[in-house]
Amino acid sequence: MERTLSIIKPDAVKKGVIGKIVDRFESNGLRIAALKKIQLSRLDAEAFYAVHKSRPFFGELVAFMISAPVVVMVLEGANAVAKNRDLMGATNPKEAAKGTIRADFADSIDANAVHGSDSAENAAKEIAQFFGAFEIL
Ligand code: ATP
Ligand code: MG
Repeated sequence: MERTLSIIKPDAVKKGVIGKIVDRFESNGLRIAALKKIQLSRLDAEAFYAVHKSRPFFGELVAFMISAPVVVMVLEGANAVAKNRDLMGATNPKEAAKGTIRADFADSIDANAVHGSDSAENAAKEIAQFFGAFEIL
């Protein structure tokens, strides 16, 4: 059993595909242990993507993430981190495998529909950024 953090990003929320994306997880053995729709502040987004602070796209990434509400979720299941990354597809939707969330719902590398933790260690940190222990069921 493993947990990972998933975010449905502003582009996918605005498109009205929250339900379709949640279905991908539930249909593929990932249980929704927590879920909420929130508006990220600039500070939230900067802290969340702090690892990319020195990258040229950081400003645009933060601006995008605060441009509309997002849905944050804790997904739980066997190998949840890797399974979620497989279901998401490559960062650039043009390179994402057929049938992945990014291939089906994302438009560009900036607006790429979903975030998923990239390791169990980062998952624990990211989950703690958004959820208290009593919200994860
Ligand atoms: P995420 O962390 O959002 O799940 P990821 O792990 O697939 O995405 P990262 O390398 O962590 O990719 O990059 C974080 C985000 O920064 C990406 O989702 C993307 O929107 C943006 N990004 C990454 N690389 C580029 C790039 N070369 N040009 C523009 N935006 C980029
Ligand atoms: Mg990442």
